[in-house]
Amino acid sequence: MTNETMNFGADVSRLLDIVAHALYSNRDVFLRELVSNAADACDRLRYESIRDPSLTSGDTTFKINVFKDTGYRCLHVQDNGIGMSRQEMIDNLGTIAKSGTRAMMEQIKSNPANDQDRLSLIGQFGVGFYASFMVAHKVEVISRRAGTAETHHWESDGRAGFTIREATADEAKKLSSGRGTLIILHVNDDASDFLIDEKLKQVIQIWSDHISVPVYLSDPAK
Ligand code: ADP
Ligand code: MG
Repeated sequence: MTNETMNFGADVSRLLDIVAHALYSNRDVFLRELVSNAADACDRLRYESIRDPSLTSGDTTFKINVFKDTGYRCLHVQDNGIGMSRQEMIDNLGTIAKSGTRAMMEQIKSNPANDQDRLSLIGQFGVGFYASFMVAHKVEVISRRAGTAETHHWESDGRAGFTIREATADEAKKLSSGRGTLIILHVNDDASDFLIDEKLKQVIQIWSDHISVPVYLSDPAK
């Protein structure tokens, strides 16, 4: 199994540095970003399956599951949406695709601000998937594009870069619908409140009101 290590682009490294060092009082937004990505992925598959119903074969009920694994201090965000191929994981999770985030980086570059200003910029634009590194020192992503047979595993400590490889059979099995994405956050000591169900429930209620896909606080495999 080939295990490839790749470096983040300079702009991603810079963004991650800002995210990791931000004394962000509203770190909850990382969950808004992950749940909204999960819902987007379900919406995309819903749309693509109009043309090709085989893409949702076996499981036509879209869902998002947010659950913890306190033994390993991990928080899981799982969806059975469109998923990502290997190349999509490299492209989408290793570069800044978002024009809003790009604009924010430009603003920070041209106008070196203090921490407080940076934080308000992050809050304003959102940093998408990279917000995970506000609460986690390691992030794993297991994903399988609907309609394909390969599952891949992406992992990063949010510093220099990431590794990507084929998922093991055990990892692939975690995608119980046979497609979609599982994000595993290895939660920092100072973010332990995100391993408490009540806290998760509260945050999801605040941020995920308008989400088109149901969010469950349970492991879909159980
Ligand atoms: P944005 O959602 O604004 O595009 P993000 O940083 O939140 O920016 O996500 C980057 C990209 O990564 C998304 O556009 C999508 O292509 C991919 N992605 C992230 N999470 C998922 C997911 N759960 N399922 C499928 N693709 C995802
Ligand atoms: Mg997003």
